[in-house]
Amino acid sequence: MSYIFSPVPIPTVEIVGRTERFAVHRIYCVGRNYAAHAREMGHDQREPPFFFMKPADAVVANGATIAYPSRTANLHHEVELVAALRSGGRDISAADAHRHVFGYAVGNDLTRRDLQSEARDKSRPWDTAKGFDRSAVVGPIHSVEKTGALESGSIWLKVNGELRQQGNLAELIWSVPEIIAELSTYFELTAGDLIFTGTPAGVGPLKAGDHIESGIDGLDTLITTIS
Ligand code: MN
Repeated sequence: MSYIFSPVPIPTVEIVGRTERFAVHRIYCVGRNYAAHAREMGHDQREPPFFFMKPADAVVANGATIAYPSRTANLHHEVELVAALRSGGRDISAADAHRHVFGYAVGNDLTRRDLQSEARDKSRPWDTAKGFDRSAVVGPIHSVEKTGALESGSIWLKVNGELRQQGNLAELIWSVPEIIAELSTYFELTAGDLIFTGTPAGVGPLKAGDHIESGIDGLDTLITTIS
């Protein structure tokens, strides 16, 4: 195979305790998956899950410094549990979903909230609000062999040492297996897919110079600086 130019490198994520990297295929995200966050965004908690995507090359590693993005005056943080798939398929049952999960990481679904609000009001797509460059911050992936299925545990985010978001994975409206089952009715899932599973309440603005720490019980803390 030859190309007219060098293909861009495959985006990857660090795996705890391994020299091999996790090669990213797609990044799927779930909207409004904690009741308190759905309420703060003005929605009823009983709505079924909906999905959006970020480009694979939007991934940003732990410890990175991210320039405040263009075309927004209201960049928001959203700490989330990220599930990393080792395999996939179509029409996966929730009961069979866990075997497709390679591991978990802490993620930050960076959001241009002003563009998202405008898109929602005008019934336009969310791509510029959610799928911009360097919008998918993902910490090191911990394999499920080490963590077990993550079904409860604290999820939190601090900005400059101040606690902004606080929740528990047990509050997820749709569990990781249920998300995989639903998502696989829309898309054929594959090894390398990352799924951001939604954020708890407390989303808020970031500014240049902010130091963000986010964590989930049992996973490495994710650290990001905005410049
Ligand atoms: Mn989100």
